[in-house]
Amino acid sequence: MDYKLKKLKLNKKLILSLVSLIIIVILSIALSINSVFNKKFEQYIIRNNENEISNIIDSIRSKYVNGKWELSSIQQIGEDAISNGIFVDLYDKDSNLVWGAMTYNKNMCHMVMGSIENNMNYMINKNKSNYTEKLFEIKNLDNEIIGNIKIGSYGLLYYMDNDVDFLKEINKVITSIGIVMVLITIFIAILISNNISKPVEVVSNMANLIGDGDYDNKIDYDSNIVEIDVLIKSINNLSAKLEEQENLRKRLTTDISHELRTPLTSIQTHLEAMIDGIWEPDTERLNSVNEEVIRLTNLVNQLQNLAKFDSEKSKLNLAKVNVKNLIMNVVYNNQGKALEKNINIECDLESIDSYLDKDKISQVIVNLLSNAIRYTNNGGKIFISSYKENNNLKIQFKDNGIGIPKENIKYIFERFYRVDESRSKNTGGIGVGLTIVKSIIDLHQGTIEVRSELNKGSEFIVILPNL
Ligand code: ADP
Repeated sequence: MDYKLKKLKLNKKLILSLVSLIIIVILSIALSINSVFNKKFEQYIIRNNENEISNIIDSIRSKYVNGKWELSSIQQIGEDAISNGIFVDLYDKDSNLVWGAMTYNKNMCHMVMGSIENNMNYMINKNKSNYTEKLFEIKNLDNEIIGNIKIGSYGLLYYMDNDVDFLKEINKVITSIGIVMVLITIFIAILISNNISKPVEVVSNMANLIGDGDYDNKIDYDSNIVEIDVLIKSINNLSAKLEEQENLRKRLTTDISHELRTPLTSIQTHLEAMIDGIWEPDTERLNSVNEEVIRLTNLVNQLQNLAKFDSEKSKLNLAKVNVKNLIMNVVYNNQGKALEKNINIECDLESIDSYLDKDKISQVIVNLLSNAIRYTNNGGKIFISSYKENNNLKIQFKDNGIGIPKENIKYIFERFYRVDESRSKNTGGIGVGLTIVKSIIDLHQGTIEVRSELNKGSEFIVILPNL
C-alpha cells in the first residue's frame, strides 16, 4: 500500500484525534455514571420493598379488631400489595385462609407477575430473583399469635413498571447529554483544528509563493497561537530578506554592466579608430586605453572584494594586533596614490594592541584611506589618528576634500551608493567600499561616525571595543 495514502490533512487528523478522545472519555463517564446509578437504584429498590412488606404486615395487624379481621380493609391492603408485586395470604390462628391474593383475583396476580418477569428480563439483572414465599407470625399487643401472613414476592430485588420507566428515562437523559457533548466536542474540535491548520496552510501557500519568486505578498494573519505568530513573522521576514537580496542582485547586475560598459566602449572606440587608421597608436592614445583597462581591473577587484567579503561575512579571526603598525602599513602602500595627487598624509598614532581581525580591519583602513585620497583634491591634506578613549579604540580619518552633502550622508553605507555618479566615475569607485567598512565594524560590534561638510572635508571615526 502506498504510504502517502495513509496521510491525512492536519485538520482532519486533529478533528479525528480530538473527537475519538472525547468519545472515549464521554463513554467511560456515561458507563461509570450508569453503573453507579444502577447500584444505588438497586439498594433503593431493596430498601423500598423491605419497608413495603413491613408496612403491609403492620397494616394488616391493625385490622384485627375485637377478635375479628376487617375483611374489606384487608382486601384493600392486599389489592395495593398486588399492584406493588407483593402477594399476601392471610391465615387466622387456626390456619384458615382469611384473604388470599390468588383466590381474590388470580388474573390480576398473573398479570403483575408477568410484568415483573418482563421487567427483570429487561434489566438483564445478574442477581435475577425467583418467586419465593415467606411466612410471618402476627401477634397482638399481648404477644398472642392472632394469625399468619404468607408473603410471596420475587425476592427483594424486582422492578415494577414505573421503576423501569424511571430507569429508561434516566438512560435517555444520559444518552442525550452524551450525544449533545459529542456534538459540542466535534464543533470545538473543528474550531481548534481550523485554528491550527488554517495558518499552517496560509504559511505553506506563502512559502510556495516565495519559492516562485513572488515576494510582494505578506502574510496578514493574526492567529491566537504564539508559535504560529512567530512562524508567520519569520516567513514574512524571510520574504522581505529574499526580496531585498533579489533587488540587490538586480541592481548589482545593472550596476556592473553599466560600470563595465563605459570603459569598454571607450577602449573599443579608441582601438577601432587606431585600426581604421584615424588615430595613430601613439603613447598618449595607448596610455589612455591603458588607463581604462586599469579602471576595469580596479572595478573587477572591488567586485571580487565584495564577493569575498559576502562569503566570509560572519567569520572573525580575532588576534592580537598592533593598530599603529597596521595603519602605517596601509599608509605606506597608499603613499604612491597620495603623492600622485600631491596629498599630504599626516599620522598621530598611539601604539595600541587590540584583539581584531587583522585582514578585515586592514580592509577598513584601506577603504577609508582610499576614499580620503579619492575625494580630496590635489594638494589636499589627510590626517589619521588612533587613540584609546573610554575603553574604546578610535581610528580617525580626516580630509579637507570635497565633502558630502548633509542629505546624502545617511546613504553612503548602502551598497552601490555614490553621492555623485558622474564624480565617482572618474574616481573608479562603485559604491561598495563603505558598505564593507560598515559590515566589518558591525562584526566587531563597533560603530562608525561621519562628519562632513561640502567643499570643506570629511571625517570618519571608527570606534571599536578595545578587547
Ligand atoms: P566608492 O567606491 O564610490 O568610493 P564608497 O562606498 O566607499 O564607494 O563610498 C560611497 C560614497 O560616499 C562615495 O561614492 C562618495 O561619494 C562618498 N564618500 C566616501 N568617502 C568620502 C570622503 N572621504 N569624502 C567625500 N565623499 C566620500
